[in-house]
Amino acid sequence: MSDSPVWHPFTQHGLGEPIPQVVRAEGAALYTADGRRIVDAISSWWVTTHGHCHPAIMAAIREAAGQLDQIIFAGWTHAPAEAVAQGLRALMPPALTRVFFSDSGSTSVEVALKMALGYWRNRDEPRHRIIVMAHSYHGDTIGAMSIGARGVFNQAYAPLLFDVATIPFPAAGAAQETLDALEAYCHEKPAALIVEPLILGAGGMLVYPAWVLAEMRRICTDHGVLFIADEVMTGWGRTGSLLACEQAGVVPDILCLSKGLTGGAVPLAVTMATEPIYAAHYADDRARMFFHSSSYTANPIACAAAAANIAIWREEPILARVAGLARRQADRIEALAGVAGVHNPRVLGTIAAVELGGGEGAYLSELGPRLLGFFRDRDLLLRPLGNTVYVMPPYCIEDADLDAIYEAITAAAGLV
Ligand SMILES: *Cc1c(COP(=O)(O)O)cnc(C)c1O
Repeated sequence: MSDSPVWHPFTQHGLGEPIPQVVRAEGAALYTADGRRIVDAISSWWVTTHGHCHPAIMAAIREAAGQLDQIIFAGWTHAPAEAVAQGLRALMPPALTRVFFSDSGSTSVEVALKMALGYWRNRDEPRHRIIVMAHSYHGDTIGAMSIGARGVFNQAYAPLLFDVATIPFPAAGAAQETLDALEAYCHEKPAALIVEPLILGAGGMLVYPAWVLAEMRRICTDHGVLFIADEVMTGWGRTGSLLACEQAGVVPDILCLSKGLTGGAVPLAVTMATEPIYAAHYADDRARMFFHSSSYTANPIACAAAAANIAIWREEPILARVAGLARRQADRIEALAGVAGVHNPRVLGTIAAVELGGGEGAYLSELGPRLLGFFRDRDLLLRPLGNTVYVMPPYCIEDADLDAIYEAITAAAGLV
């Protein structure tokens, strides 16, 4: 047993694996207490967009911390929150007029579900069923687990998870089955469809085409079913555009954003909604208000970081930088594609993924931990999903670091 009282997430302490201590981060590099420089190839679990410790975001946090630490957000407001909401309205699709704050991707999803159910209830047309896509991941709270893939992660809690309608993943050549299943469920008057647009992250970096997303949106619109886009991972440039939904030319009724909202510096999330969702809760009757809050809703320091991130998006050529990284990833994936033991190479914007070895990837396969250690020994933060190895670096990563990542993946392919 370790001396540390810390209980880490998604960590089996009984395996006694080393837990490096990080003391500093800059750009795409992490520096450990024992003097190592680690390349952060997964943006610290998909949150860091521009790079660690972006000077403008750090300065905004320092300035905010000298002014206002925390204030109740029910019935009170502050400049950083107003700046974030205005900034998002200017940056995001115009139909998304309202901004509700929370603290994490999971809570932004819980809020989205509650908004959807509240919308139907307040229209005196109660609907409760949520349509989801197989292999999806939306977070680790009970509601978010309920709408996500069932498996070893949530077996212990299965009796508490609510029932959902699941459409198959639109694998190549099988997209019509997905659309047919969605259409069939839409006839049963569900409340909403929730999807990860274009790529399923924790489900194994599974990519599907923009036209399928556009068709799913169309079917929902045709049947008056709310369309919720969980862009917690895909938002903020990850897939090559500010939102993945843009590539399909669709705008959701409800949008979940978190990870890159503060550039990945501090926790914050928003759930954005269209005017009809807001209007359904707007009345002189307190029973129709939106019943959700957490203590730190719209924390001013976190909002200042998000406002600084939005300013960076306004002022710096982020999409050009993203396009450059997308090209650099595509070149390396192309080179990797010919290596023995590498399967199913794919790139979507700044995200690249392959499967190593043979067979289907299962999260608990022995390969995952072996790969994790292999990469850690080479001073790389890569965290395979089973035998799926993906690279999702901060946008500022330099070529030499990217090369080191791909050399290690090539070496790993030779071992499995
Ligand atoms: C990470 C993630 C979440 C959950 O976000 P947390 O901040 O970890 O709660 C939800 N949806 C998607 C698509 C994610 O990738």
